[in-house]
This record gives sequence, C-alpha cells and structure tokens, in this order.
Amino acid sequence: ETIGENLRRTVERHGDREALVACSQGFRASYRQLWELTTQAALGLLALGVKKGDRVGLWSPNRYEWVVAQYAMARVGAILVNLNPAYKTSELEYALRQSGTGVLLLAKGFRQTDYRAMVAEVRPQCPELKTSLVLDEDWAGLLAQGAAVSADTLAEREASLQFDDAINIQYTSGTTGFPKGATLSHHNVLNNGFFIGETLRYGPEDRVCIPVPFYHCFGMVIGNLACTSHGACMVIPAEAFEPLAVMEAVQAERCTSLYGVPTMFIAELDHPRFGEFDFRSLRTGVMAGSPCPVEVMKNVQARMNMREVTICYGMTETSPVSTQSSLEDPLDRRVSTVGRVHPHLEVKIVDPESGAVVPRGTAGELCTRGYSVMLGYWNNPEATHAAIDPAGWMHTGDLATLDAEGYVKIVGRIKDMIIRGGENVSPREVEEFLHTHPGVSEAQVIGVPSEKYGEEVMAWVRAKPGVALTEAELEAFCKGRIATFKIPRYWKFVDAFPMTVTGKVQKFRMREQSVAELG
Ligand code: ATP
Ligand code: MG
Repeated sequence: ETIGENLRRTVERHGDREALVACSQGFRASYRQLWELTTQAALGLLALGVKKGDRVGLWSPNRYEWVVAQYAMARVGAILVNLNPAYKTSELEYALRQSGTGVLLLAKGFRQTDYRAMVAEVRPQCPELKTSLVLDEDWAGLLAQGAAVSADTLAEREASLQFDDAINIQYTSGTTGFPKGATLSHHNVLNNGFFIGETLRYGPEDRVCIPVPFYHCFGMVIGNLACTSHGACMVIPAEAFEPLAVMEAVQAERCTSLYGVPTMFIAELDHPRFGEFDFRSLRTGVMAGSPCPVEVMKNVQARMNMREVTICYGMTETSPVSTQSSLEDPLDRRVSTVGRVHPHLEVKIVDPESGAVVPRGTAGELCTRGYSVMLGYWNNPEATHAAIDPAGWMHTGDLATLDAEGYVKIVGRIKDMIIRGGENVSPREVEEFLHTHPGVSEAQVIGVPSEKYGEEVMAWVRAKPGVALTEAELEAFCKGRIATFKIPRYWKFVDAFPMTVTGKVQKFRMREQSVAELG
C-alpha cells in the first residue's frame, strides 16, 4: 500500500471526522477536506512538472500546509526532502545539493531568519534548484494552477507508484555531527506509523497534540502517519515548540495524546502556569528522541494524567521506531525501559567489536532488522554499507540491554560513553541519579579529557526555577550514593543546553565548550 492509498481508505471510513487542526493558524479540516486539499496540491505539483522520484524540498516550521504537502508529494511519487527549520545557509546548501532538490516549498522565514534571502544566497551553488515557492504567498496559486491538470493524470500517476518507492529523504538530527540523508519508502514509514497507532490504540476519537517538528520522523511518522492511518486528528499547537501553546492546545482541543522529547515535557512541568491547565482529556502519549528520565516519566503520568504514556526508541534510519512500551506493560517497566521490539521487527544486542550476540542483560550495540530499515543513505553507498550489514541488520550505534522478558533499556550512545581511568561510566546512569535531586530540573553528563584519567566526568545542570544549587551541595548528594569514580569532577550550572531543533542535547557541542573553558 502507498501513503495515498492508505489516506484514501481513511477518508472513505472517516471522511466527516476532524483530521487536522492548526491552532496558531486558526485552521481546521475534516478528512474529506484534507483529501481535497492534498488533491489540489498534488495537481499543482503535476502542473509544475514534478515527476516520480523528483526531490521536492519542504522548509517550514509546523503549519497545516506542511501536512498537506507531505501527502500531496506522496500521491505524486515525489521524494520529500525534509529541511530543518533551523538550518543556516551552509546546511541548507548541503541538503539541497546533496539531495538534488529541484522544487522547494518554503516559509517566508522563521523567528528572526529570512528564508527567502537565504535561498537567494545559496541558489547559485544549487544548479538543480529550478523552482521555489513561498507558502505564505504562492500556496493559493499552486493549488489554483492544479485546476489545469486533469484528475485522470493524477490517477494515472498514483496507479504507477509502488509501495517500496523512495518517498522521503530525511536528514538525521545532527546530534552527533553532520546530518545524513536517510532514504525511506512508503512501506518503511507507513507501516511504522500504523504500528505506532496500533500500540497506542488510536481510533477516530483520538486527538493527538504534536509539538515536535514535522521535518523529523517524530512529527511526520509517529505524529502524522500514526494519526492518518487510524482516523485520529492531528493537532498542531504552534509553529515551533512553546510550552504554553502546548498546554493551551491540549486543553482547548481536548487532546487525548501528547508527544514530546524529554526536554519539552520538562519545560511544561516546570512552567509557572502549569497548574492552570486541565489535562483530564489526556490518556496516552509518546516520549522519545533521547534518554527519558524515570522521574520525568513518573511526573508526566501522575501530573499530566497520561496514564498510558509510552516511550519509543528509534532512529531516522529505521522509520523511526524499533521498540515501544505497550499499554499493558507494568508501570515500572513503562517508565524505565523503551519497551519491547515492535511487531514484525527484530532486535539483537551484539558486542560492537566481535559482532557476537551478548548474553541477556549485558550491554552491547543494538541492531535492528525488518521492514523499517531505510533503503540507504541518499547517494552515499559507503555510509550505507557501514550502517547496514549484508544480512540486513542496521547497526544503531546505541548501547542497550535486553532482559529475560524482552524489555530493552538504552544505556547511551557508544560515542558518548565515558572511560575514566579504565572504568566505564554511563552518562545516562549519572544523569538518572542527578534527576532524583529535588532541585535539579535537567542534568546532562559528558566526558572531558584528563591527563591523569584519560577522561573525567562533567555534569551540566539546570536548576529548578527559584532554586540555587552549588557544587558542594551536589557533591555531598552524590557521596556514598554513587561510586566515587562516577561522581562528576566538574560542574557547570546553565540555563540551557546546546540543542538541535528536535530538542536533543548536542553533547559534542557541550564537550567543545567545556574543553575550551577548562583550558
Ligand atoms: P545524528 O545521527 O545526526 O547524530 P540523531 O542520531 O540524534 O542525530 P535521530 O535519528 O533523530 O538523529 O535520533 C536517533 C537517536 O536518538 C538514536 O540513535 C538514540 O541515540 C536516540 N534515541 C531515540 N529515542 C531514544 C530513547 N527513547 N531513549 C534513548 N535514546 C533515544
Ligand atoms: Mg543518529
């Protein structure tokens, strides 16, 4: 099945139900109206001469047009190139050139940046870029242009599409360095979205608040595709994450499900106006993207009424989800593990050196295989072969354990592990411990070079609003409760962490900054 066929089936079953609400744009559409809009946009793309397999870039924060364009592109078989709203010119140029984007849909700008000026700047270096359309000005024109194309032309195109055609180049978050373009098919992302919706028991009664960016798989798959494959409604609180807008949207739209990376939930829970909002409509949701501290999960459960909250683990290269907790899992498993392997997928934990499967409970590299594994990195066979082995296993670069009942715990990224004087320190473990201090809002732990020990442990800490924390206080808190070699040698108190737009803390930037400061 293609994404278009799947959407058509939902429209047949749930045409009158609400499909999409964009709070900050005052936009609402039923499934029938969404279908009509995607038809017009698809015809508009055909009028522009977009062929199957052509790359069409989408550079915009979360708006309803993003969703319409996502499905319109899938219906004409164009390859959607997701562009991060935070890109600066060098990253934009890289993505446009690397993907060979021919048509670009863009917002006028975002926050302080003027996208049009940036596109004008990179255009001479991007000879394949023929057309760019500004959503704020040319959207109506694009839809109108489609009127010149016959419905049969679109039907013919749709009939020519295959479920395993590439439809998406998704650049990874850039948490560990330069983003890579994962090429994904209808089959990859549609199935993943469907099984996520199954796990969350989505149906037409569900209203899902999506504050995570659409440009990333969390937004467009765990969000949009899980909803559209189940007739649930997508609710977009604002163009970009804003805790107040999220809480307002949950209350006003009576959302049943809420998404976020851990830092987003932390920002909501810590917000001075948190207590004013009614979360009674919430039932479930997803926390994902980076390690989800147990304390934060417990708070979300108890204080936001998300009784059935789950954690997803995955990566862009695997469409994204590989494991997810299920609603039946006991609470302690649901807050402390990333659940079990998703339907129709395999996971194994191997010794990163030898490749042999490790005994249950031992940490090793998580590998996954199945329908969700990307077609490859776009135009980068070397990187593809380094990531996917000949037997089809995707090597994730994440360290994990698998227990006797099949629950997976993510220990951390292999690259982030700290080796201090021959002892392995998992930043994750120290972070979890620091989160149990009542004054700590968020803690991030890294290794910094040390002549004596090779590496030393360093913690960056953000205190809860109105709390003053000191090194002495936190050291005393650690003493006797975690092993001495795990106690951070250096502390830094911050208001914010270097972050990707997907809300992930960039530890390589923390290390760069700390190394410079520590001299
Ligand atoms: P890049 O590959 O560009 O450095 P990235 O790996 O952050 O960036 P994504 O594909 O968005 O890009 O993220 C996937 C990674 O996020 C996983 O490999 C894992 O390290 C981390 N991750 C995702 N979900 C979880 C989770 N529930 N718990 C812990 N880590 C997670
Ligand atoms: Mg990655």
